[in-house]
Amino acid sequence: MNHRLVFATNNSHKLDEIKALLVDKFNILSLKDIGFEKDILETGNTFEENALIKSQTVFDFSSLNCFSDDSGLEVEYLEGKPGVYSARYAGEYATDKDNVNKLLTALKGVKNRNAQFKTVICLRFENQFHYFEGVVKGIISEDSRGMHGFGYDPVFIPNGFQNTFAELGPETKNKISHRAIAIQKLTDFINKNV
Ligand code: IMP
Repeated sequence: MNHRLVFATNNSHKLDEIKALLVDKFNILSLKDIGFEKDILETGNTFEENALIKSQTVFDFSSLNCFSDDSGLEVEYLEGKPGVYSARYAGEYATDKDNVNKLLTALKGVKNRNAQFKTVICLRFENQFHYFEGVVKGIISEDSRGMHGFGYDPVFIPNGFQNTFAELGPETKNKISHRAIAIQKLTDFINKNV
């Protein structure tokens, strides 16, 4: 475990997930571990831009190799919204419930309920930036169902399933999710190149 790699997050769930996958190769550090305490403003218009902002900021602070992720929900009928605004769809201080309610209202009576979750990971490694994308397609349910997860999980039914992510629970979700796919691409890259 010679290399240090910073994951630009303080989300302990995301940190545990990635540590389990990269454990032999890297000592994975969180923002807290490197003493980074500021909020990074996500001012980009795309997931790629936001992930790059986070990786660049953390590299400027620490001079360490690092990666960051940015995710959100894209709804076809809403022309890709809420997208990069997923966390604050119903306003700056919106709760998950507020966001879900706004989405269900926007789709009331709408037949086209196609949607996808997307994650983009930006890795800054040896002076270069590399991007890894994960997408999971599905539909938005008519109402909120299930207790697991967070965000839009109670209204997202992945293709091939009858239940929402919040009903399916972490074991199933973590096998097929946008984040799992992007992380797999990142670990494949690292295993091939490091
Ligand atoms: P983040 O960039 O991973 O923090 O995600 C931004 C926002 O997108 C979250 O606050 C959620 O509203 C939404 N989101 C991203 N990933 C998921 C997911 O796996 N389930 C439900 N909502 C998600």
